Amino acid sequence: MKYAFDIGGSKIEFGVFAGDHSLIAQHKIATPATDLDAFIAALSGLVGAADRESGLRPDIGISFAGGIDPMDGAVITANVPALKGWPIAAELSRLFDRKVAIANDADCFALAEAHLGAGQGCRTVFGIILGTGVGGGIVVDGRLLGGRSGICGEWGHGNDMSGALARHGLAAHPCGCGGASCLDPWGAARGLERIHAQCHGVPLPSHDITANWRAGDPAATRSMDIFIDLLAGPLAGMVNVLDPDCVPVGGGLASETALIDRIDQEVRRRVLGRYDVPLVVPGVFYRDGGLRGAGLLGDRA
Ligand SMILES: [Zn+2]
Repeated sequence: MKYAFDIGGSKIEFGVFAGDHSLIAQHKIATPATDLDAFIAALSGLVGAADRESGLRPDIGISFAGGIDPMDGAVITANVPALKGWPIAAELSRLFDRKVAIANDADCFALAEAHLGAGQGCRTVFGIILGTGVGGGIVVDGRLLGGRSGICGEWGHGNDMSGALARHGLAAHPCGCGGASCLDPWGAARGLERIHAQCHGVPLPSHDITANWRAGDPAATRSMDIFIDLLAGPLAGMVNVLDPDCVPVGGGLASETALIDRIDQEVRRRVLGRYDVPLVVPGVFYRDGGLRGAGLLGDRA
């Protein structure tokens, strides 16, 4: 048995997994984002109740929506301000007297896809997140690829999109990381909405743009063509570097299967290697990959 947390800025999901990885209990609570004592009390309540229910003390895996410093285990991003600088896994391990493993949510998604989802049986899995922004995680031979600074797989930053933006007549947009022309502001739901607003002067939610595209609307079609062009370049570059067997997609846009098909065709057209079957595919766990992957941390990665 294994406990898993998926900790985000607004909600915490808690799952109890059986030995065969089936989910046998699940709870969702609001994240006490600014109060560390309340955060600890919330997790203690869930773990204590599950321990009493099971009569066991299972290890814990945590999927966290943010960065963890691999040197000291401290939380380095601030979407849960109460945790900033706190060595979360070590502190919770001491508190609950058991092993606690933690990884970024995109890494957990990639791990879930590699072991239980679209990438089962694959040697190299590059799981990508097309959510509000762009993220990713890399699994090789069943294990997460770590890194020196904790940002492994973050393919949406450090890009130079300026040429592609100019080609489509789009005005540059600074990235949250401080970069001037990263993919991140353009490559996921927020980016699709930004493209559509700049091209047509009409703000529309991403799922309305994709629905209009599927219905043949010319304005949405132009926005989608630009979106796919901007995304496919950096993704093809990652495929050339990693030569993955599978690129499962998670996040809100993963449910847009026609879009994923188009991205797959465009990426395979641009890469050096030959891939005769779809490479970029919808993830099986695009909705709950964080929690699923957290349930695999520790013993499997
Ligand atoms: Zn950036």
